Amino acid sequence: MRRAHRRRSPLRGGWAGRTGFDRSAWEARMATRGDMGTEAAAGLPEPGEDGTHVTFCHICEAVCGMVAQVSGGRIAKLGPDRDNPHSRGHICIKGPSMRDVVYDPDRLLRPMRRVGGPSEFEPVGWEEALADIAARLRAILDGPGSEAVAAYLGNPVFFNTLHWPVVFDFFARMKTGKLFGPNSQDHVSRMVANNLLYGDPLRMPLPDLADCDFLIIVGSNPLVSHGSMISAPRLREQLDAIAERGRIVVVDPRRTETAERFEHLSLRPDTDVWMLAAMVRTLFDEQLADLAFLDEHCVGWRALRDALAPITPALAAERCGLDEAAIVGLARDFAAVPRAVAYSRAGICRGRFSTLANLLLDALNMAGGKFCQPGGSMFGHALTTGSKLKGRPPDRLSRVGGLPSVISFLPGVAMPDELLEPGVDRVRALFMIAGNPVLSAPGGEALERALGGLDLFVACDLFVNESNKYADYILPTVTFLERAGATTLTFGNMLAPYLQYVRPVIEPQGDVRREDEIFGELSRRLFAATDVPVGEEILDGHIRIGAFGNAFGERPDGLTLDRLKRQPHGIMLESQSREERKRVGIKHADGKVHLWGDAIRDELARLHAFRDDGALRLFGRRHLMSINSWMHNVERLVRSQHPTLLIHPDDAAPRGIATGDRVVVANDYGAIEVEAELSEAVHRGSVCYPHGWGHDGGWRRANGAGGANVNLLSPTDPAAVEQLSGASLLDGIDVRVALAATPACPADGKGET
Ligand code: SF4
Repeated sequence: MRRAHRRRSPLRGGWAGRTGFDRSAWEARMATRGDMGTEAAAGLPEPGEDGTHVTFCHICEAVCGMVAQVSGGRIAKLGPDRDNPHSRGHICIKGPSMRDVVYDPDRLLRPMRRVGGPSEFEPVGWEEALADIAARLRAILDGPGSEAVAAYLGNPVFFNTLHWPVVFDFFARMKTGKLFGPNSQDHVSRMVANNLLYGDPLRMPLPDLADCDFLIIVGSNPLVSHGSMISAPRLREQLDAIAERGRIVVVDPRRTETAERFEHLSLRPDTDVWMLAAMVRTLFDEQLADLAFLDEHCVGWRALRDALAPITPALAAERCGLDEAAIVGLARDFAAVPRAVAYSRAGICRGRFSTLANLLLDALNMAGGKFCQPGGSMFGHALTTGSKLKGRPPDRLSRVGGLPSVISFLPGVAMPDELLEPGVDRVRALFMIAGNPVLSAPGGEALERALGGLDLFVACDLFVNESNKYADYILPTVTFLERAGATTLTFGNMLAPYLQYVRPVIEPQGDVRREDEIFGELSRRLFAATDVPVGEEILDGHIRIGAFGNAFGERPDGLTLDRLKRQPHGIMLESQSREERKRVGIKHADGKVHLWGDAIRDELARLHAFRDDGALRLFGRRHLMSINSWMHNVERLVRSQHPTLLIHPDDAAPRGIATGDRVVVANDYGAIEVEAELSEAVHRGSVCYPHGWGHDGGWRRANGAGGANVNLLSPTDPAAVEQLSGASLLDGIDVRVALAATPACPADGKGET
């Protein structure tokens, strides 16, 4: 096996060397606490009491364990929890920075009512605010009805696992089906691929990093993201261990931090679908595919094989800007290593053919015989086996453009039209919780117009941001340090199953409330509800009936929420066998992976018909100190960030662009002015800019951070996004770039005037 660019790891062989986790040492350490932590739980301080509190970071999927030092009712310091068996002392800078969010002088600590234009708010009491909201909402429900009510739920809502059942219960009582969220800007196409392949949008195989010897990473930068759709806090150690014993290849249009550390294969943005198709074809063509494995586990593989025949490595190489030999060589190397796996994330989820790309990535693992094999791809663990969220076929289509909802969420690109287009079903009332779609979704300018024209707009948030500054009311909510929490959101994506429940570290600041209090109260006022769900009861039920639970007494040694609470640093649970996880993970009635169907056939036909005109292609990147847009008011995070447009010197030269120049990036959907930075790290013919910038809300530090809202360049025409999933086109947008002083941006994308 080729071992170029391999770096040495501090880890050494054996099980501990592969995972970096010495379980026996950890158990010995915990045993000194009595009953694996029972005494520790009993001795923990109450919320707000002085002392050391155990918690975990809810910012990203790694859910790292943290400890908080509280003094005088305030958090003095946040640091790593070295007794947490999941993260074992790992955190990144964002976790401790939550203290700055809690005590941010711009944070909202009282309900606010808008009394003038955008951002013109005055304080209002909870009673007055909730009474007015309930009355106005009742009038809308009694008039145009529930179709006139919508909700946008931002990413942090889903980490609030104990309270979102109450939020969803409220929207269910209203019978509104118009839910929007961040999925279509992130992983919705992965969900649709999951549904086609496995019959469940929420079950996807994970890479078995602990036993993998050859890892192909497509469109992911785990050294910065700390893992996405996988929850593994100490990813750097795991990747280093793989490189130590084998090889990692990162396929990406930019030499990312991860690509820099391992091997990099650079390709044109939004062409990975071609490379993956050609790799699968190569396995079949060169008799490297594991046909016995395919026969046993999959249906439709022959049809897929035949359909991929026209996608030769030479054709894919031309589309991707790669060497044909690189594609063929990667496929051969992948097939040759028994413990190999291909993994992908956001980079292939937000293109023109993102569902197909995700499907082909899994097809590569299947054809290589890597599915459900040690070191290959495997399903995570399920806390419970039932999935109540709906997948395809969609339970509804968007009113304009007919785009599908996936797990009950409509695509973000449909949101402005749902609010603006006249009709009896036009949205007149909107709830927005921890969201900022003006910066995070396509069509921000249209959305701003729409938000300003609503009959009722209620936001729940920590700050006045670019979206909720148009709200009639902003109801201030707690941070995760002021509420209880559990690591259930990411449970299915954990490479080793782990659960933790934590209590609030401090009391809620000022006059803020939890989401379950707010929406429970609205349910009582509007619907006289007497049965508002209680998040902890739901969690306890899920734990009890799930694979690890006590089955309400039938398995006395099984887990309950009460047992979980007695182990404040969390519990590592026994892994289920790969076969058991496969049995639970595949929901198709025949128990097989479906590699073919009408949707796949149609997407391949669309791929063949697509013509790339060679324009500059814009794609995104992520910074270690950013999490979308909501932590840009934290000085210690934002001071080292300076959003620039990365452009290859060969693309900059004909346009007369130098580092530091102001340039205009434009296309048919919008134009932004940004600072250029010449970089050989990006693929020729592409430019790269991070999202979530261009602040103009009530957060002063963020407003001064500069940058521009790159999502203004994303197509807003529903016909221009991927129809299977409604995924926004955010990686691979055709743009023109010219010096800002140039009177008009050239139309041919080449820079000549
Ligand atoms: S890696 Fe994620 S979960 Fe861990 S501290 Fe950083 S932001 Fe929090």
